[in-house]
Amino acid sequence: MRRPIIAGNWKLHKTINEAVTLVNSIIDEVNKTDVEVVVCCPYTCLSEVKKALAGSKLKLGAQNLFWEDTGAFTGEVSAEMLKEIGVEYVIIGHSERRQYFHETDETVNKKVKKALEKGLNPILCVGETLEEREADKTFNVVKNQTLLALKDVSPLDASKIVIAYEPVWAIGTGKTASSQDANTVISYIREVLKEIYNDDISEEIRIQYGGSVKPSNATEIMQESDIDGALVGGASLEAHQFLGIVNF
Ligand code: PEP
Repeated sequence: MRRPIIAGNWKLHKTINEAVTLVNSIIDEVNKTDVEVVVCCPYTCLSEVKKALAGSKLKLGAQNLFWEDTGAFTGEVSAEMLKEIGVEYVIIGHSERRQYFHETDETVNKKVKKALEKGLNPILCVGETLEEREADKTFNVVKNQTLLALKDVSPLDASKIVIAYEPVWAIGTGKTASSQDANTVISYIREVLKEIYNDDISEEIRIQYGGSVKPSNATEIMQESDIDGALVGGASLEAHQFLGIVNF
């Protein structure tokens, strides 16, 4: 049985004060659920959010990391620096990073391996653009992204990864893949994991759906057999909306 995981991706939102206020307003509800709940904050908020969620069931996530440990890499943050703060999850390969910051499958793979080496759990994002979907390339795209991101990742480490299937055309657009469509692609990703690893590991890895998830569509999405949670952008910024998804 895979434990559902709902992660909020705050993107470029929330000052420290706003972040702590939001965390304080969701903590009690999060403590009542069996679902695993993570907030992925901007780097600047991580330390204070860690203090705010101390002793609760809410987990801390980051939105990115760099694959080197130290060095002349102005502006970057290492896995060890995140670990030191108490970060447990880190989003890797989000489509916005692939699109605006030129991340490639190769750099995503380096980041996944570094996160695992340092004891962080990657939330690995894969998903097709609208153009790719319309050209019937969805399965090819998610297969390639998954294979390349997991290159040289051991079976033991693979089970610590959460995959987020996020069709790029559904992120921040209000358009959602139908729950059946999302489940079909996610089942396919599970087949790919079976090819790379084995049945047990493929059944163990949690795969989220992401793309305009809201309280009104969360139940339907979460009822699908292969969908193990959601990566939530816009709706994670407000307590009542995020809790509406957590309590799907
Ligand atoms: C995301 O940023 O990962 C995301 C899914 O955003 P939204 O929920 O706003 O579509």
